[in-house]
Amino acid sequence: MKQACNEISQLASDSLDRPLSLSERLKFKLHLCMCSHCRDYNHNMKFIRKVTDMMRKTNYGQIRLSEEQRQKLHAKLDHSLD
Ligand SMILES: [Zn+2]
Repeated sequence: MKQACNEISQLASDSLDRPLSLSERLKFKLHLCMCSHCRDYNHNMKFIRKVTDMMRKTNYGQIRLSEEQRQKLHAKLDHSLD
């Protein structure tokens, strides 16, 4: 990875956490126009951030079955093995 690309990937991750200054934004946009590697990188990172935000909002990572749901599931599984 080129030195410029390192800088841009840092700016890309910064931009998710804080607003970039005008000169940073210009540098960032200009570089993305010229560099497909950083375009892809930026695109992927935004996508990953979107998915993780969504998971946080929906508590997707914290879904737990209640005891009753668990027993029902087990009953169904046992039944299907008969
Ligand atoms: Zn680049």
